[in-house]
Amino acid sequence: DQAMYRAKDQGRNNYQLYTPAKEDHTPQLLSMETSLRRAIANEQLHLYYQPQFDAATRKMIGIEALVRWSHPDWGNIPPSRFIPLAEETGLITLLDQWVLREACAQLKRWLDEGYSPLPVSVNVSMLQFRQPNLGPFISRVLADTGLPARYLEIELTESTIMSNPDVTLQTLHELKRMGIRISLDDFGVGYSSLNYLKKLPIDTIKIDQSFVKDIPEDANDKAIVQTIIHLSQNLRLGVIAEGVETEAQLQYLQSQQCKGIQGYLLSRPVPHHEITRFFAS
Ligand code: C2E
Ligand code: CA
Ligand code: CA
Ligand code: CA
Repeated sequence: DQAMYRAKDQGRNNYQLYTPAKEDHTPQLLSMETSLRRAIANEQLHLYYQPQFDAATRKMIGIEALVRWSHPDWGNIPPSRFIPLAEETGLITLLDQWVLREACAQLKRWLDEGYSPLPVSVNVSMLQFRQPNLGPFISRVLADTGLPARYLEIELTESTIMSNPDVTLQTLHELKRMGIRISLDDFGVGYSSLNYLKKLPIDTIKIDQSFVKDIPEDANDKAIVQTIIHLSQNLRLGVIAEGVETEAQLQYLQSQQCKGIQGYLLSRPVPHHEITRFFAS
């Protein structure tokens, strides 16, 4: 029973959520911001987890946490529909804080259940990354959940990292000192200064799925993917190709020595209880 919804930009803080009324055909207008605020408070958000695999062995090497909103009336609302709203209203910081805590708590539960340790990756928005107390906040979450810092990875996009490079570098070094891993999400679609990239204390580059989609047919995309893989090798960084949906894509990536892959081919994002089968026994 999926409701229709539409984010309508009528200016700041003025997104509307439309649900078609079943009986009287009167459209209900609800403030999506109010709904999202309630969702964060009322446990309508939950996390799905998508495994990241070693391309050669197909063993799980990491897990990305991805937020989901299941609304009691409107059904499942995908992040592409509410993350932009959350960013515009500033609610993203509350959301990211909730996600961080939940992902760390879940990984700690898996560790306590005896599964072999892997890092969990959490997406951190630019607004959350720029919070002055980010380091102390993450420290507190790690202390509260009992998760060792080395099992937390945060994913930042190029635009987050490249905006205000000096502050970024400070924050990244602070997080690295704490022992947290850092990956650069959606690599290739933003504008990265390659000269700057080599100075960043990052662990992994994630090749954006738009470059993976048409390999191995598209010669330009092949060249780009190959270049990013070589770049990561030369900078001694890990690399993960996103959006891997076909065996042909996987084979090409393997032939180029791409270490990590993530995508529907090996697993979609799944609820926490479905991921345990991917852990090494
Ligand atoms: P992202 O971080 O680039 O995450 C990857 C997206 O690609 C996810 O979409 C995932 O479900 C999807 N995906 C994975 N494998 C494949 C594949 O093989 N093919 C295709 N077509 N798609 C694939 P999702 O979960 O809808 O999330 C969309 C975006 O929303 C994320 O992109 C991220 O930018 C944002 N997001 C999700 N969860 C969070 C969160 O907790 N906090 C923040 N700040 N942003 C989040
Ligand atoms: Ca991500
Ligand atoms: Ca991505
Ligand atoms: Ca993305």
